[in-house]
Amino acid sequence: MDLAKFRASAKRKQKSLSTFLDKLDKIVPPDLQDIADRADAAMWKETDCTTCANCCKTMTPTFTVKDINRISKHLGMKPKEFKDKWLLHEKETGDWVNKTQPCQFLENNMCSIYEVRPADCAGFPHHHLKPFDLYNDMFKANIMHCPATLSMVDRVKKEVDRRYDM
Ligand code: SF4
Ligand code: SF4
Repeated sequence: MDLAKFRASAKRKQKSLSTFLDKLDKIVPPDLQDIADRADAAMWKETDCTTCANCCKTMTPTFTVKDINRISKHLGMKPKEFKDKWLLHEKETGDWVNKTQPCQFLENNMCSIYEVRPADCAGFPHHHLKPFDLYNDMFKANIMHCPATLSMVDRVKKEVDRRYDM
C-alpha cells in the first residue's frame, strides 16, 4: 500500500465524497445497499490490509471493559495496570482509548495481540454495518484514514452518479 499516494488521493476526493455522503441524509437510492455491497466486494479484491495498517498508525480503537479484561489477561497484567499504562478515559464519550498513536501493539506493521484484539479493531472498517446510509458520518471521517473506505465510498459514488441524478 502506497500511503503517500492514498493521503494525496484522500485529500483530493474528500470534499466531493463528503458532499455525496451528506446527501444520503436526505436522498437514499432504493438499491443503495446492493451498490455498497458490490463496491465493498470489488474493493477487497484489490486491498491488502497487511501492507497498510494505517488505522493502527493514525487512529485509536475503543476498548470495551471486555476487551480490557481479555487483553490484560493475555499480557499477564491486571486491568488497572493495563489502563494506567496505555489508555485514556475520554470524558465526553466515556470511552477507553489509546493514549498515543501508532497503537502500542503494532509491531512490524502487524498486530501483536491479533487473537485478542479489541472488537472495534476486529470489525474495522465496519463496512458490514447496514444500512449504508446510517453510517455515512463514520465513513466521512474514515475516508481520511482508511484506503479501503476511501475506495469503497468512491466506487459507491461513481455507481450512484451513473444511475441517479442526485
Ligand atoms: S490493537 Fe492491534 S489491530 Fe487494534 S489498533 Fe492496535 S495494532 Fe491495530
Ligand atoms: S482497515 Fe483500512 S486503514 Fe486499516 S489496514 Fe485495512 S485498508 Fe488500511
